Amino acid sequence: MSAGEDIIVGIDLGTTNSLVALCDERGPRVLSGDDGVSIVPSVVRYEHDDSAPGGVRTIVGDGAKDRAVEFPERTAASVKRLMGRSLADARDDLPYLSYRVIEDEHAQARVELRLDEQTTKIVSPQEVSAVILRELKARAQHALGHGVRRAVVTVPAYFDDAQRQATRDAGRLAGLEVVRIVNEPTAAALAYGLGLGERAQGETVVVYDLGGGTFDVSILRLTPGEGEGGTSFFQVLSTAGDTRLGGDDVDHMLVALFMREIRELLGAGGANDEGGLGAFPPATRRALKMFAESVKCRLSEAASASVAIAINDKQTYERTVTRDEFESMIAPWVERTIDACDRAVRDAGDKVGEGGIGAVIMVGGSTRIPLVRARVGERFGVEPYTALDPDRVVALGAAVQGSILAGTTKGQLLLDVIPLSLGIETVGGAMAKLIVRNSTAPARATEMFSTSVDGQVSIKLNVLQGEREMAADCRSLGEFELRGIPPMPAGVPQVEVEFLVDANGVLRVSARERRSGKRASLQVVPNHGLTRDEVERIEAESFLHAREDMDRHRVVDLVANSRLDIKWIGEKLERHGGELEPAYRDDLRARLEALRAMAELGAADWRSVDPGEFHRAKQALDEASVRLQEVAIAASLREQG
Ligand code: ADP
Ligand code: MG
Repeated sequence: MSAGEDIIVGIDLGTTNSLVALCDERGPRVLSGDDGVSIVPSVVRYEHDDSAPGGVRTIVGDGAKDRAVEFPERTAASVKRLMGRSLADARDDLPYLSYRVIEDEHAQARVELRLDEQTTKIVSPQEVSAVILRELKARAQHALGHGVRRAVVTVPAYFDDAQRQATRDAGRLAGLEVVRIVNEPTAAALAYGLGLGERAQGETVVVYDLGGGTFDVSILRLTPGEGEGGTSFFQVLSTAGDTRLGGDDVDHMLVALFMREIRELLGAGGANDEGGLGAFPPATRRALKMFAESVKCRLSEAASASVAIAINDKQTYERTVTRDEFESMIAPWVERTIDACDRAVRDAGDKVGEGGIGAVIMVGGSTRIPLVRARVGERFGVEPYTALDPDRVVALGAAVQGSILAGTTKGQLLLDVIPLSLGIETVGGAMAKLIVRNSTAPARATEMFSTSVDGQVSIKLNVLQGEREMAADCRSLGEFELRGIPPMPAGVPQVEVEFLVDANGVLRVSARERRSGKRASLQVVPNHGLTRDEVERIEAESFLHAREDMDRHRVVDLVANSRLDIKWIGEKLERHGGELEPAYRDDLRARLEALRAMAELGAADWRSVDPGEFHRAKQALDEASVRLQEVAIAASLREQG
């Protein structure tokens, strides 16, 4: 190993753009290649080349993005959307990809590229990502003048185990040791130096990340270290978002607008009339997308932007889009991100703390859109942080994390959130949660299970992820079997199941029968061998639904429990009201009525109440009713005596 090879670089492997950074004694900085360019579009083109190994060479980044219009069928873009997913998982994304996506024998999505009329090349999303990572590695080596072996790679907070694992695999294929997978929002907070040294300690921070393909909002809490130079850490209180929401959607809205108007210009029958994106050839679609993106980006600076597209020898489509028109077009899309912010705040609940939200960090290229900044600022009532380039924040933070792990930056401990609950299917088909959503990683949990049939010698364990109560409604991460249990009556064997989530969010499940000492464990391999029905259900139930489900459960529970309280307290008030101080009695009545109103509202429509507020109203009544309870007990003692 030559000098400097013990460093750990930070890599933001984005859906749209990727970059590599390093944090050393000079501080964090983005690294660029000999072309001086640091942002590498996450785009790879495959091409015949007899001199290359395997007869195929790859062109990465700008070179591939710029000529994607010419070679749509052999240009792989946005493969992050396919990482660790099945074809069915990715179905909604397919219309927006210029290449074919097929399924391998494990039902995993693969990219099918057409090199020419006769030749197709099939590659996994991991392989495409590896090409991008290898390019970043080469740039880092060029910038530093020595080898680079180790990296921290970031992923969206919503990535599940299969997607994180696929990212690690891509790193390995690129000849990189991925020392840690870090959530993008956590990296962003680090990039602003939050949690490091004297800045912004003890604050609650929102990270709003709107990129090209994914949207994430996370609420982090910074906890200062004890004493001088103590270790401070931050914790992710909650996350919300949508893995299919980003700047690409805005491009598609503009493309749809342009296509509609081009069709009108050509007149009926001039173009294929079917409508939809499929009606234009792939090259046209890609070209329109590039025009759309350019208009969008110009509108971030200017009050209007124009395009002129030659559609044939005689006709040119000319169009000016104003900021106002653009903003009314994208407003509903922006509001979807604001709704997710509301959910994240609600999930974080009381943990946000007295001081409220201290800072809002803007991440991702799409946060350059003025309407986005304005709405986020309004929502949180603070001016968002935009000092760092939103494209670079995540890579810089990953580099800071790399330097912490390499021992260059001291006094920092990171805790990340587990986005969905993890558990085991029970005999009745229910989901037994061992690790609940929003727990911090690393996390460990154990639970005892037993057999349900006399003489049963094996137990099948189905590992689940999700918020639903029934196993069938959750995602199965995999199944394994514990064999060789000595025959015993049902319920006697003691099977200890352990869940371990490491600092990277990767799950390991093991089971051990106590008497025989028999063990079995599962490496979490994504289970995509699903039936059609299962696939359709999982598709229908996005994370958003899982969250709604949770909220609904909370409200339903609160309604039931509140009704008991209201009845009980109402009766006691009726009976002992005369014995209470009038001010106290009035206060208690007011709280009772407040809770009653909320319970009625919640019973009519669970969506109409905020579960956090509801919970607090119930608690307020509970606390206030202590005095009444004392009076009632004293009265009943008197009656008995
Ligand atoms: P990802 O994390 O998905 O790789 P990025 O954070 O690199 O994405 O953001 C890419 C997105 O940001 C693209 O949709 C791009 O069009 C958009 N974007 C970049 N610059 C601007 C701008 N000036 N105005 C509006 N959108 C922009
Ligand atoms: Mg990003």
